[in-house]
Amino acid sequence: MGDALRLRTRILHHGADTDPHTGAAAVPVYQVSTFAQKDPVNLGKYEYARGENPTREALEHAIAELEGGVTGVAFASGMAAICSVLLLFQPGDHLLVAEDVYGGTYRALTTIFRRWGLESSFVDATEPEKVAAAVRPNTRALFVETPSNPTLKISDLAAVASIAKEKGLLTIVDNTFMTPYLQRPIDFGFDVVVHSATKFLGGHSDLIAGLVVSRTAEMGERLKFIQRAFGAILGPQDSYLVSRGIKTLAARMEIQQIGAGKIARWLADVSGIRKVYYPGLPEHPGYKIHLRQAAGAGAVVSFELPDGPSAHRFMRSVRLPLLAVSLGGVESILSYPATMSHGSMPREERLARGITDGLVRLSVGLEDPEDLIRDLEQALGK
Ligand SMILES: *Cc1c(COP(=O)(O)O)cnc(C)c1O
Repeated sequence: MGDALRLRTRILHHGADTDPHTGAAAVPVYQVSTFAQKDPVNLGKYEYARGENPTREALEHAIAELEGGVTGVAFASGMAAICSVLLLFQPGDHLLVAEDVYGGTYRALTTIFRRWGLESSFVDATEPEKVAAAVRPNTRALFVETPSNPTLKISDLAAVASIAKEKGLLTIVDNTFMTPYLQRPIDFGFDVVVHSATKFLGGHSDLIAGLVVSRTAEMGERLKFIQRAFGAILGPQDSYLVSRGIKTLAARMEIQQIGAGKIARWLADVSGIRKVYYPGLPEHPGYKIHLRQAAGAGAVVSFELPDGPSAHRFMRSVRLPLLAVSLGGVESILSYPATMSHGSMPREERLARGITDGLVRLSVGLEDPEDLIRDLEQALGK
């Protein structure tokens, strides 16, 4: 019956939402490493918790269902998820990567994986022709992120997936900013979806987790093999907490994005703000494409103050948002990409991507947006 139900219902009723052994209303924390076997030859489904754990399995089932994929795989962090996906490739392979991909992904690719022989180059994925032109004979995959971080650039998922398919590339997308509640890249032809579940899926700034969903069972088997062999699994307690967070995803996303929309529109009229980046503003260059492929603009707004010192003054003066790395929590979080998410990126690379010293990123939480606006206003006045 899953297919007939709408997404908001499936978030709660996806087939792995209750404990099959006891009927408990939530799949409990199976805090175990190993499972007693009835027979030494015919081993049961649960053997050793690096391979299978019922709490993790419930979460993996839920995320696969919500993304419209076949297999879900849970990892110890978003970066563990992304790096485990990168283990699908081998030395000599080349990956084409969207140029404003998450800073940690950029760092892993340009240090660990480059040293290990996996080539990568960066392309402006908002222009499909540039993607097509950048494919090399040894290119194996395209890795994109839309909206991108922190300037919320929009790539056309269907257009880049079709180019990649034509060239025989595997398509990977980081869907952290949208979550499957707002955007399901598999519907547009993507093969692999990755998440930092630390953000909106967990939703409460109380855990670190990563998820991967594959469009096919065959790719799911390869990813599960890597999960078991490499071992960067998510523990049962955090698996439980992510499942718990996902139950309120629709409610949180709806309220947080209403707040983000109000704040973005307000910021657009504030003198002294040079630019506002939010895909829900009609003046955003990716507005039309984004609303074609996503059900909303999300809860992250970036904006640019005139320079570093004015941004620093502003960040020291806000009272409500946490000044912190991360996003997607119930509380608003104000980040400074130059020293936080993109602190590991060389300065010239960072500036070339529009990540100036005046740029700040606000993840809008569940507070009343009027209170947030008043707080931003007083801090901008300093
Ligand atoms: C935070 C983040 C990551 C990394 O996830 P961790 O859970 O911190 O390892 C990857 N991609 C995006 C878009 C992120 O925001």
